[in-house]
Amino acid sequence: MSPNDSNENNLLDDSVTTSSLNSNNAAFWKRDWSNVQSSLSSLRRSLSSFPSPPLRIMRVSQLDSELLDSELFETFKEQLWLLFSPQIKQTFEPELLAILQFMYRLTVLESGATYGAQLQNLKYRNERQHWGGLQSISKDSSLTKFQKSAYIALTVGGPYIWIRINRLVTAQEWGESNEDDPRKIFWKVLQKAENIYKTISLLNFLIFLYDGKYCTLTDRILSMRFVYARRTMNRQVSFEFLNRQLVWHAFTEFLLFIMPLINLRKLKNLLKRKLLPESYFRSNTLDFLPTHICAICHENQSASNASMSSVVASSKIHNPYEANCGHKYCYFCIKTKLLQEGGTWQCLRCGTEVKEIKRFLEKLVDEEEEENDRTPKDKGKQVAR
Ligand SMILES: [Zn+2]
Ligand SMILES: [Zn+2]
Repeated sequence: MSPNDSNENNLLDDSVTTSSLNSNNAAFWKRDWSNVQSSLSSLRRSLSSFPSPPLRIMRVSQLDSELLDSELFETFKEQLWLLFSPQIKQTFEPELLAILQFMYRLTVLESGATYGAQLQNLKYRNERQHWGGLQSISKDSSLTKFQKSAYIALTVGGPYIWIRINRLVTAQEWGESNEDDPRKIFWKVLQKAENIYKTISLLNFLIFLYDGKYCTLTDRILSMRFVYARRTMNRQVSFEFLNRQLVWHAFTEFLLFIMPLINLRKLKNLLKRKLLPESYFRSNTLDFLPTHICAICHENQSASNASMSSVVASSKIHNPYEANCGHKYCYFCIKTKLLQEGGTWQCLRCGTEVKEIKRFLEKLVDEEEEENDRTPKDKGKQVAR
């Protein structure tokens, strides 16, 4: 037999079998199909009780998506307030925010994910279809219409109604009315409800931290769970950038830590003394001032650009203390300088390093006498502190 013949025979056979099937095929497989239904459904049910690898979605991505959403919303809000006068904002704030929130959340209706979630490669899925062993199957079932609209109603309507009721109650001071007044009772119920809501939210968050399933209470109520929009995706992170960021961060931290420990003024003076010639300090002294004038006060006053006469008038030494070079200053001035510069300080009149001071116990010399005499060492009695 040639191969052609056998082909023809086969074709003939096929046509015979199909024609014979056509006559009674419906009855033939329908019966089997209905017979196998019970075992199929039990099989399907048992599928969910088989152990399957748990589906892990990074918690940090889910939290980040929430954060991104709220930040995006804040940005939109700022733009919105630019459009309206403060008076309109004051009166219609809840309504405007609700409209904005509604527009923002509409994207869930279309793509099943908020903008923040999309940025984090996340989307919602209908977790009711994924119980037990079905949680990590490859196909995610999309949200039902009810879930989507309930989600928008809860995220938009919930806060709106809450704010409106609270505004009403606060404006009419229901909390201040009598104990048995229904308004007071309503106010109490409101307070209780808020506490309960906060407690449940906290519980939900703790459970989320444990199992990583439902980030918010709304998600849990509606069984809307975040899953990856694309399961295989390369994380494209530039480690060079990360490293640079880390180094800068550590560096600024270190600077912030070390700056208060460095006495910049002392360092400056030390460098000045090391680098500048001795004659610089000799020529820049304030020794031309009368002895009853505090050179530090004088310097401070001159720095604030006061006129010469008023500077001299207000620079008299108060509570005089004498440095080890023999020049006198106010106690406050010289003590401050010594504390600031860490123990040693350069005398403004002679340039000597001042290390210790002692109380000067003598009435200040009169101006007339002082003009003849410029050596305070000889005058006055010094008493050790
Ligand atoms: Zn002074
Ligand atoms: Zn001196």
